[in-house]
Amino acid sequence: MGAFRARAAILALESRGLTLEADLSAQDERWMREALTLAGQAAAAGEVPVGAVIVTAGGERVGGGQNRREVDRDPTAHAEMAAIRQAAAQLGAWRLAGCTLYVTLEPCAMCAGAAVLARIRRLVYGASDPKGGFCGSPVSLGDLTRHPGLNHRLEVTGGVLAEEASAQLKGFFAGLRG
Ligand SMILES: [Zn+2]
Repeated sequence: MGAFRARAAILALESRGLTLEADLSAQDERWMREALTLAGQAAAAGEVPVGAVIVTAGGERVGGGQNRREVDRDPTAHAEMAAIRQAAAQLGAWRLAGCTLYVTLEPCAMCAGAAVLARIRRLVYGASDPKGGFCGSPVSLGDLTRHPGLNHRLEVTGGVLAEEASAQLKGFFAGLRG
């Protein structure tokens, strides 16, 4: 192959890579918008607005949930736990291999641990959480999603629609003080 054809082949591969990346980020935003909608429902019910959605490798939504700590009087009623339970019930398996978890706020230690136990392939979160985040954001308290001692690690993408997620949280807490 001549140098020109080799170069053309590389350019074609690069542009294909970029297209795949653009598709992935469009998908990420689409599902994060759904998670934001669920978070909005939580806020309307007087709960801290956090929403989560689980999508299979084939792009099918199999789980969703929002924070329900107050209404359920349950400290474990986080959005991610509800979404994981629903997805496992829907798929008829505890192993959510190939699935992606979308959540508006960086998951806490409990939810990051549950995502590892469920063998979720990929985590996409919105805002980072300096108070409880355990998924390796710069402000997080740690990273359970990529712990070298655990037998499963996730691919993690943070900061998707982060401004919207954090505006939603700030708005909620400002409303409580107002
Ligand atoms: Zn949590």
